[in-house]
Amino acid sequence: MNKKQYIEEAEESLFHVYNRFPVVFDYGRGVRLYDNDDEEYLDFASGIGVMAFGYGNEDYEEALISQIKRITHTSNLYYHQPMIEAAKKLCKYSGMDKVFFTNSGAEAIEGALKTAKKYAYTKRGAGSYEVIAMENSFHGRTVGSLSVTGTEHYREPFYPLMDGVKFATFNDFGSVLANLSDNTCAIIMETVQGEGGLYPADAEFLKKVRELCDEEDILLILDEVQCGMGRTGSMYAFQQYDIVPDILTTAKALGNGVPVGAFAVTQKVAEASLVPGDHGTTYGGNPLCTAAVSQVFDMFEKYHMIEHVNEITPYFEQTLDRFVEKYDFVTARRGMGLMQGLVLTIPVKEVVTKALLEEHLVVLSAGADVLRLLPPLVITEQDVDDFKEKLEKVFDKFN
Ligand SMILES: *Cc1c(COP(=O)(O)O)cnc(C)c1O
Repeated sequence: MNKKQYIEEAEESLFHVYNRFPVVFDYGRGVRLYDNDDEEYLDFASGIGVMAFGYGNEDYEEALISQIKRITHTSNLYYHQPMIEAAKKLCKYSGMDKVFFTNSGAEAIEGALKTAKKYAYTKRGAGSYEVIAMENSFHGRTVGSLSVTGTEHYREPFYPLMDGVKFATFNDFGSVLANLSDNTCAIIMETVQGEGGLYPADAEFLKKVRELCDEEDILLILDEVQCGMGRTGSMYAFQQYDIVPDILTTAKALGNGVPVGAFAVTQKVAEASLVPGDHGTTYGGNPLCTAAVSQVFDMFEKYHMIEHVNEITPYFEQTLDRFVEKYDFVTARRGMGLMQGLVLTIPVKEVVTKALLEEHLVVLSAGADVLRLLPPLVITEQDVDDFKEKLEKVFDKFN
């Protein structure tokens, strides 16, 4: 089949819920993708921050293949070794105490919200169910996670959503206080806002929110589905802020391509929230997915991946800063580590499309005007140079 036939066939049977780019990817090697005509693309999107180790990594593939040959699924009614190993490692690298594995980021948020509600119910009785979320945030597309997502046009067609959600302005502590009530059970935010436009939390803001949560026995939920797993230069971004959340959510790069997420809690939360019967999942944390998680953490060690991210970040930032200097329509760079955005005054969707189709450079957008870059963590200086050359060609067309 040629590309046109593939796309026609796809649109015949797939629910049209995405406006997909007209590209049919076939396989990947390292930080490069290949389409059905064997044409090469440079990937600075990682399948939305998932493929941290790139494509075709042998350590990863071998771990998955050997797990497939043993067992891929058991349900959560029984124990199995991969889940135990993965939970142990997630606790070790996050500093959290207890883990629940999910199939996605949105489900991790669902679990986090239920945990916070149950904690308040246990400690204060019924009624303390209010959640303060942030404007401009993104937490997922399920009803619960959509309820705390701060983009009105995502939520509006699906009202009524979860009751008791109030939106504060990100990085504005006064706005959090203004939304506080006796019934607040949780404050949820991304440590670095991703979809909303690459906004890191201010250290002072996060510290004050943490103190407020301690004073009022409110749970702080940090959503690191996108910014976690080494992307910002520490395993989790909060580890650069000298605070600890009560509940952490993680997904995207956690399994490097298999569908897996998790929410993790401190001992204090575990002791006064969910008990057997409160929550569950058929697939969540199955042997295949948790074997991947376990291998991903081992690969962080084996390849010294956190050190690598910190080494390559300045080079990437300098490269991006040169775009700000060179092009009038690039007004700023924002982000942390290998989670970066360029703020544009030209239509970002057009830039993303031209980059993909004309220069074979895979990039993302965020918010209304940000070109979002989430390259695989394994990128080299040469890859950054290749990226620069391609993006310059794209931008030159707008000059
Ligand atoms: C992607 C994302 C989610 C949702 O994850 P899914 O796996 O798509 O359900 C939640 N929170 C953040 C911060 C995300 O970036």
